[in-house]
Amino acid sequence: MLARFVSSSSYPTLSFLSRSVTLGLARRTTLSALTMSMNLRTHAYAGNPLKSRTPKSTEPFSPASAFESLKSLIPVIPNHPTPSPDFKVLPFNKGRPLVFSSGGDANTTPVWHLGWVSLADSKDLLASTGVDLSENSLVYLGAKVEEDLVYWAVDLTEEDGVDTELGGKKLCFVELRTLMVAADWADQRAMDELAIAGHARALLEWHNVSRFCGACGGQTFPKEAGRRKQCSNETCKKRVYPRVDPVVIMLVIDRENDRALLSRQSRYVPRMWSCLAGFIEPGESLEEAVRRETWEETGIEVGEVVYHSSQPWPVGPSSMPCQLMLGFFAFAKTLEINVDKEELEDAQWHSREDVKKALAFAEYRKAQRTAASKIEQICKGVERSQSLTTDFNVESGELAPMFIPGPFAIAHHLISSWVDQGPPGDAHSKQQASVSLSSL
Ligand SMILES: [Zn+2]
Repeated sequence: MLARFVSSSSYPTLSFLSRSVTLGLARRTTLSALTMSMNLRTHAYAGNPLKSRTPKSTEPFSPASAFESLKSLIPVIPNHPTPSPDFKVLPFNKGRPLVFSSGGDANTTPVWHLGWVSLADSKDLLASTGVDLSENSLVYLGAKVEEDLVYWAVDLTEEDGVDTELGGKKLCFVELRTLMVAADWADQRAMDELAIAGHARALLEWHNVSRFCGACGGQTFPKEAGRRKQCSNETCKKRVYPRVDPVVIMLVIDRENDRALLSRQSRYVPRMWSCLAGFIEPGESLEEAVRRETWEETGIEVGEVVYHSSQPWPVGPSSMPCQLMLGFFAFAKTLEINVDKEELEDAQWHSREDVKKALAFAEYRKAQRTAASKIEQICKGVERSQSLTTDFNVESGELAPMFIPGPFAIAHHLISSWVDQGPPGDAHSKQQASVSLSSL
């Protein structure tokens, strides 16, 4: 089974991070101190500041307490006093969060921000589409106790033409992938907001695809402030939990010849190469999935499998609300490539030098700025297209022979970790490998 929908290895856009600034390698000062001016703590979509801890049910910030508070507040909107904790709501439309853009001018790149609204505003937004706000419309995202705030998401997918001008400010719904490319990796706030939006999208998409009970076909309804669901059939009452789809993604390495296997799928933009990836099947360990997928797609036999890191990936298709990418180094036992053309367009061994050049391709920053400007244009109503796939070839003055996905994708970090480790046998390489594998 291939990763036809596995997007982290396929997304054709880039971001600006320097090759040597790899996730979790903040302690790798020997190489990275030269260029590193930022401290990346996690992969994109991980490190959600609202998810570090779920308050206990007796606390006022807990899902249960906040839900009770919500129930009592909604009937008295808009004339209720500010509650404690206060609530912020993030509206979505077709998987796209509400955002606004600020700060763009001739010299500065605009910055996007999530378009949090008040309970009263979310009621107005829903009302503009003929729907009443109810406590079951809202999904609990988490809390910031120190700021006396509880965060919710609301889905406006059913409705078209929602008026998103609030308080004189123009907001717009933007694809999460576009926000991902446009997020400035040096800006912790932007990465936090990306993680929050990713979690919210995953939860809302899961609500959309789990409206009916898989056991009896009865309708499901939200429980625990939207954190799970339950079948409404009294004789069934099946509990349904948010779905995560695990995917292995692996950089296959030829130790002896110091090469890595990179592959292309036909839907990639030209020149982009990435890691192999595929869904884990029932009854299979992670290591087995790595070996099976590599064998099926390239005919290469894998021996040792070493875990690297993992990344939530909420930007796949809506039928898979949240993939979890599990990244590995996979060491080849055989080297002959036999590509399964139904799964891949091509797969080739690449020398460390060639891969290094692909990583040095300096379009990441430009792509980030382009996407950020595009969001500004979408919010102004100038730009309607949400697609970014054409931007890169047009903008590349000098075409590198190949490039790899940007630093928002785990594939980037698997590949750059290998490149930065140096050739086998190198003492420096061994020291770095142990750090890079343990610090994320
Ligand atoms: Zn049921």
